[in-house]
Amino acid sequence: MIATMIVDIDHLLANPIYDPLRCSIGFHPLHEFIPIIIYGVICFFKPLRYVGIGLIIHMALDSIDCMVSNGVWYV
Ligand SMILES: [Zn+2]
Repeated sequence: MIATMIVDIDHLLANPIYDPLRCSIGFHPLHEFIPIIIYGVICFFKPLRYVGIGLIIHMALDSIDCMVSNGVWYV
């Protein structure tokens, strides 16, 4: 589960670091479609299952945040 925190490093690379009106999905390099597909695949490998699930949850929360603030699921 700690590994899921690492994905938030790319939030820190953005400027400003936190913008409540910005969509994380599609904006940060680890929040695009291809990485999200990889996170889904990771869920099927037992040692990494919780990492994959944690990452998917992270993406879902970021997407919901985007939907609430901007009315779209991704940029
Ligand atoms: Zn995120």
